[in-house]
Amino acid sequence: MISGISASPGIVFGNALLFKEKKIKINKKKISKKNILKEIKKFLKARKKSVQQINEIKIQAEKKFGKKKASIFEGHILLLEDEELEKEIITLIQKKLICAEYAIEKIIQEQITTLEKIKDEYLKNRSIDIRDIGNRLLKNILNIKVIDLNNIKKKIILITNDLTPSQTAQMNLKNIIGFATNLGGKTSHTSIMARSLEIPAIVGIGDITKRVKNGDFLILDSINNKIIINPNKYLIKKLKIKKKIYLKQQKKLESLKNLSATTIDGKKIKIGSNIGNYNDVINSKKYGSESIGLYRTEFLFMGRDNFPTEEEQFQAYKSVAKKMKGKSIIIRTMDIGGDKNLSYMKFPKEDNPFLGWRAIRVSIDNINVLRDQLIAIFRASEFGKFKIMFPMIISMEEIIYLKKEIKKIKIELKKRKINFDKNIKLGVMIETPSSAIISKHLAKEVDFFSIGTNDLTQYTLAVDRGNENISKLYQTMSPSILYLIKKVINSSHKQKKWTGICGELASNKKYTSLLIGLGVDELSMSSISIPIIKNIIRKINFIKAKKLAKNVLKQSTIKKVKKLIKNFNKKEGLL
Ligand code: PEP
Ligand code: MG
Repeated sequence: MISGISASPGIVFGNALLFKEKKIKINKKKISKKNILKEIKKFLKARKKSVQQINEIKIQAEKKFGKKKASIFEGHILLLEDEELEKEIITLIQKKLICAEYAIEKIIQEQITTLEKIKDEYLKNRSIDIRDIGNRLLKNILNIKVIDLNNIKKKIILITNDLTPSQTAQMNLKNIIGFATNLGGKTSHTSIMARSLEIPAIVGIGDITKRVKNGDFLILDSINNKIIINPNKYLIKKLKIKKKIYLKQQKKLESLKNLSATTIDGKKIKIGSNIGNYNDVINSKKYGSESIGLYRTEFLFMGRDNFPTEEEQFQAYKSVAKKMKGKSIIIRTMDIGGDKNLSYMKFPKEDNPFLGWRAIRVSIDNINVLRDQLIAIFRASEFGKFKIMFPMIISMEEIIYLKKEIKKIKIELKKRKINFDKNIKLGVMIETPSSAIISKHLAKEVDFFSIGTNDLTQYTLAVDRGNENISKLYQTMSPSILYLIKKVINSSHKQKKWTGICGELASNKKYTSLLIGLGVDELSMSSISIPIIKNIIRKINFIKAKKLAKNVLKQSTIKKVKKLIKNFNKKEGLL
């Protein structure tokens, strides 16, 4: 039995598929003249196999994402079959008498270096495609198995070292019924995506890839944070009953979906959904969401080979607006960087990506990309109630700059005779200690705050949110974080503004009473958590919760904080 960090709830039964990406190690092997033809044939055979594989991916991608988006794979095939590339590799084998894999690696590397020197951003980014096809060629020549996550044919539970958010987005969910990883934390973006895709997952296990063998029969129970390898009949039966009970409880909770999230003494809390795309909006309805508290737009920018145009973005935002029928949508501008990269954008190699070129920093340095996005949002605002929010703010300078840009955009839109919501509200995410500390100044500049506790915890405690080795230190109930949350809420209320929480803390039922007591106005979370949080809010007495919060803020240790809350929840019959 193995445990880690429960990332997304559910119980599934299935065979393990070990997804291990072996490191490609290339040795320079000298060959004799009589083996030249053999090496050339080896290269051509690997290329043929690579083309076949990419063709398969292309067909699957066309079905899933449409012809246009799948065209990236057509490009990969053209690159692979490029006559110039073929000539260069063959010539190198013949002239230098070296093995095919070494020749491929050398030529591919040369092409990458040349492309990286070019000023043009588009061409520069093609180096990523060259690396991709180069790796595929090398894996095929060395007989390293290539597994494509969007092309899994049997129902399996995926076991792997780590998954990037874009790999998660591309997974074939019909057949990948759950996953478990060595790395990752509860608030890493892969875990967040798993929750919105409703795929059961346990992350941060450390050594799952060593303990599970391909084909092992597994029970992945992320309700109880357990993976059982090759269980006996008795255990399978027991867990099947548990699954039934869990699903029944979920159904019961879902029946509360249309009730208002109001405490017993009449304090109404706004409940929102965190979404990444249109499908998540449909799901949010299923769970009784009242609004969208966080629209992570970066997912629209991922899993493709170029920036979405203003028009494409407009269409995407408009469809969300139409589905929400006038209900509030807090749309966050692209938060890329950290653990979310774009294949078509060159990111510098950084020692600390989460402290580096991320979120609003990337947008400010690529102001045209941000402008396109803002224009698309303004255009869509004719069809729904958008509020714009900026991620990872650290200073007043940033917000003053952004407001100036918005002013310019409004003038441009008027010139273009485009209708838009003239009173669109602006907010910032409070994700850095700096923004929390200067919240009294920020509150004068914006209409609302949304506390991103995932990052606020990471940056305040200096604990990487995705690093399982230090996950014990990742404690949102630290007095330091609670102090900042209270400060932010007070700053907003003083200016008659409001504060929401859209980090994962908002969905942690253990702390709902505390957050309500601290005076938070809105909670936004993965839709799947909404029924349970609504149910708790409806049992809370606001006056008592305020007293609890006051007491909690006086505590000096995490242990004392947790104890007070636990006792309160028990006494009030909340959990
Ligand atoms: C957060 O940091 O709490 C947040 C909601 O943003 P993200 O998880 O996308 O970084
Ligand atoms: Mg964040």
